[in-house]
Amino acid sequence: MRIFDGKKLLFATHNAGKVAEMRALLAPWGIEVVSNADFGLPEPAETGTTFIENARIKAHAAAKATGLPALSDDSGIEVDALDGAPGVYTADWAETPNGRDFVKAMTRTWEECAAKGAALPYTARFRSTLVLAWPDGHDEVFDGKVEGQLVWPMRGTQGHGYDPMFQPDGYDITFGEMAPEEKNRISHRAYAFRKLTQALRG
Ligand code: IMP
Repeated sequence: MRIFDGKKLLFATHNAGKVAEMRALLAPWGIEVVSNADFGLPEPAETGTTFIENARIKAHAAAKATGLPALSDDSGIEVDALDGAPGVYTADWAETPNGRDFVKAMTRTWEECAAKGAALPYTARFRSTLVLAWPDGHDEVFDGKVEGQLVWPMRGTQGHGYDPMFQPDGYDITFGEMAPEEKNRISHRAYAFRKLTQALRG
């Protein structure tokens, strides 16, 4: 595995919340995190059919455009009864003409499982993939997942996205009912982050 020993890393996103999260995570390594917004970089089209493909597209485009090592992330939920859907289309299922509506996305997810006559429980997992790409074209991939099941009706008001309908294995509460500190300890993103930190010079 190639180790990152630089002091400046580009996070290939325009999402200010994600940048703040990554800044805090990488602060102990003395790594300065800059983002696409600082360089006026456009977000490339996510044309891949897997999380890794999409994360690679974003990281390599940013590394090439700036000459800096670039990190990207891609995440979503896979439902077994739907053969892995919505997968890379997780955010797309929430799109409406007036912005994203995750109640709509969760309702569609549950209804499609029911329409298939799938047996309960509807097993599912969140996945998070981080790709660290260097300007010379090399990359390292770090992924994390958390297994669980869908519940209906949705429960809880914490978190975001599909959290209120996802109950991780070993718990009787959903991510939407879970304290953020607990979710941040066991989530797909937490596992991917932990793997990433192993690639940072200590
Ligand atoms: P992206 O990685 O920013 O493209 O986001 C993919 C989509 O996956 C988000 O819009 C969320 O709906 C969903 N997602 C990813 N991680 C989580 C999570 O931890 N909880 C709930 N939804 C998530």
